[in-house]
Amino acid sequence: MRKCKFCGKETGIFLREHRLALCEDCYPGWIEKQVDRTIKKFNMLNKDDRLLVAVSGGKDSLSLWQILKKLGYNVSGLYIDLGIKHNNYSELSKEKVINFSKKIDSSFYIISLKDEGLDSIDRISKIYRKTCSACGAIKRYYMNKISVKEGFNVIATGHNMDDEVTTLFGNLIQWDESYLDRQFPVMPSGDGFAKKVKPLVFISEKQSAMYALTTGIDYIMDECPYSKHATSISYKENLNMLESKHPGILRFFLNNFFNSKSKKGLQIEGSKLEIKECKICGAPTYLDICKVCKIKENINR
Ligand code: SF4
Ligand code: ZN
Repeated sequence: MRKCKFCGKETGIFLREHRLALCEDCYPGWIEKQVDRTIKKFNMLNKDDRLLVAVSGGKDSLSLWQILKKLGYNVSGLYIDLGIKHNNYSELSKEKVINFSKKIDSSFYIISLKDEGLDSIDRISKIYRKTCSACGAIKRYYMNKISVKEGFNVIATGHNMDDEVTTLFGNLIQWDESYLDRQFPVMPSGDGFAKKVKPLVFISEKQSAMYALTTGIDYIMDECPYSKHATSISYKENLNMLESKHPGILRFFLNNFFNSKSKKGLQIEGSKLEIKECKICGAPTYLDICKVCKIKENINR
């Protein structure tokens, strides 16, 4: 058995990429420190910011909510009820969020697709083959809407390092310059959109699961039933294989990408398209009618 670097207690937790053994008591504090470092490195947050964290009931978003609270930020949660019936997914995840908010004594907001005239992702999936793309647009829309309405100036999401590296890899394979230009852990506010940050961008999926476990976070273990996108799953598997042979390589890859963008100042620019107001709901959009109003039209047709 290895010994914890901080207290010397025997432990089975070993972070190969950092060559670091930590016991379950010292591990959470170490993760919180890593997140704090990322926040400072990218100038993500100030203590007087009002922060809205998007929570799904999964390990990453609940961990992020807890970490931000522990680090002393003024944070509330936002849960979007997608109305997914498979395995009772939406009901169970909502329950986890409500219970967790009580546990950490933090306020939260709930938006329900049904109440918003969008029915459910189950219904939307019948019309939109790219369900996740429609769902992503809906989530971004309501995160922004609630932040404007309730006076939050920053939105935080729980994307972990594995998500971010997989996205980067996909954007590189496709050589999608517009996405590559925009991929960064901080997106500044502007044109009616709130500032967005990803403080878990250097926390791997395994590390995040271990954090949830060691701090007793009760999260929904099931994945969203629509998350089985074949290409990104195969990218993830292959990237994981690479990481197991070369511990730390994914962190290195992502860090170098961000550093090179920071040096060139490339991340600061948002989209160059002209921003307009949606003719139906008034939300900021690059189109005449925003994506969410379009989805509403299509499902209520
Ligand atoms: Fe929405 Fe797709 Fe994520 Fe499910 S996996 S919550 S459908 S974006
Ligand atoms: Zn609209």
